[in-house]
Amino acid sequence: MTQEYDLIVVGGGPAGSTAATAVALRGHRVLLLERETFPRYQIGESLLPATVHGLCRILGVADEVQQAGFTLKRGGTLRWGRDPEPWQFSFAMTPRVPEPTATAFQVERSRFDEILLRGARRAGAEVREGSTVRRVVADEERVRGVEFTDADGNARTAYARYVIDASGNTSRIHTGVGGGRVYSDFFRNLAVFGYFAGGARLPEPNSGNIFCAAFDAGWLWYIPLRDDLTSVGAVISPEHTGAVQRDARGAWRDMIEACPEVSRLVAGVPEATEAPYDQVRVRRDWSYWKQSFWKPGMALVGDAACFVDPVLSSGVHLATYGALLAARSVNAALDGSVPEERGFAEFEARYRREYRVFYEFLIAFYDMERNEDSYFWSAKKITKVDLGEAAAFAELAGGLVSRDSAVVRTEWHTAAAQLDGAVGELAVSDGRMNPLLSAPVVGETFRTGNDLQEQALYGGPLDDPGPAAPDGLAVTPDGLSWVKV
Ligand code: FAD
Repeated sequence: MTQEYDLIVVGGGPAGSTAATAVALRGHRVLLLERETFPRYQIGESLLPATVHGLCRILGVADEVQQAGFTLKRGGTLRWGRDPEPWQFSFAMTPRVPEPTATAFQVERSRFDEILLRGARRAGAEVREGSTVRRVVADEERVRGVEFTDADGNARTAYARYVIDASGNTSRIHTGVGGGRVYSDFFRNLAVFGYFAGGARLPEPNSGNIFCAAFDAGWLWYIPLRDDLTSVGAVISPEHTGAVQRDARGAWRDMIEACPEVSRLVAGVPEATEAPYDQVRVRRDWSYWKQSFWKPGMALVGDAACFVDPVLSSGVHLATYGALLAARSVNAALDGSVPEERGFAEFEARYRREYRVFYEFLIAFYDMERNEDSYFWSAKKITKVDLGEAAAFAELAGGLVSRDSAVVRTEWHTAAAQLDGAVGELAVSDGRMNPLLSAPVVGETFRTGNDLQEQALYGGPLDDPGPAAPDGLAVTPDGLSWVKV
């Protein structure tokens, strides 16, 4: 079988559905090939406002996601750093994003990903589940298509002007672009995770927060998915691999036991017995990136392109945002408004910048000798946003630093002007907010020491994309393409 498409997307996770929808919405012929039959399990349940209110709106699924009954997430609660007491951040700490859009959801990924995949179909993409891509078809000039096995076991070939690899961390075809993965020396962890059929909730209004608690071996996440379902995972150093390999469930329970803040929340609560939550799973969650995210005819997005430690729940945001950037480049090349090379260069520069913000910040965040005030300061230093330190942290943790119209609605900017300075007031008026929100800036001595420390801790060279080219590209009003400025 020989078929002609404008775009073939490999993988129907959040990245793949985003790319397929964004190109199909422009009327192009899109084929999405997904190995599994949905709903399928995936980890990565804590979302960011940028995804829920930005990307989902562009993809036309925002209402469906809002109405799906997912747990509302206002921010995060952390037992992290020097302070023995838990502290919290709220997405509303940034004055540039007014309520109610300063929220996200904790989602069962099987349901969330299915909403996105359905959205791709609705937008006009041909979605084939149970179809495994085996190989990329290319000649010396460019990528031309893929070979795949369809749901009936037949070997097929499909041709397209572009191929986007969104097949996640198990991608087998990413090696065709920019060689192997570069692994971070700094983030080399192991995750072991499972589910409880319930569990205590944090006091309102933070009952839907993700709770992250550091302990001797690493840290635990505690994500309230439903009243009767809580996701609990341990992110630990590789020295625990042996114990996890011998008995994953036992190791998971031991890690929870070793963390009093979390073990208290699940005391007496049974483990979940419903599929797919009845299993304890293990993932090596090493952070990595590719030297290049594209070559003629093909781009990598989502976990196929890069991954960074999950503590700030940035995975789905990076995956969907990166996929939209690639889709813009494909759309612009297909309609002839921006040449492929220039569009893909813009995609890669913006995507790397977004990745880098999280990567750099997380290095500072893993320094447990600091307190929240110092983490907020690092967020400001890395993001360089024109806001206070706590607000900079909230923007970073919300996936909003790029200010891209895909993640921040334009009307928010207007609201932002009116709300300028609200963070300070918030710190005073809202007794729930951490008092350190309004604490004085950390001293110059600490800053210098911190700079040196960050250099020493830095896990390896990340390619610096540099600032956006002065003659760079702007986003079209629908958010789906580039336009020359
Ligand atoms: P995926 O969601 O993996 O989708 C890829 C799809 O491609 C799959 O459906 C797969 O079946 C399909 N596929 C694979 N190979 C083929 C093939 N050959 N042919 C056809 N289809 C194929 N992110 C968050 O946002 N919040 C979190 O709280 C969070 N927690 C995490 C915790 C851990 C321990 C880890 C490891 C990750 C976490 N993440 C989190 C990250 C998140 O899981 C990923 O970043 C996200 O799922 C990436 O989406 P994706 O679309 O790139 O890939």
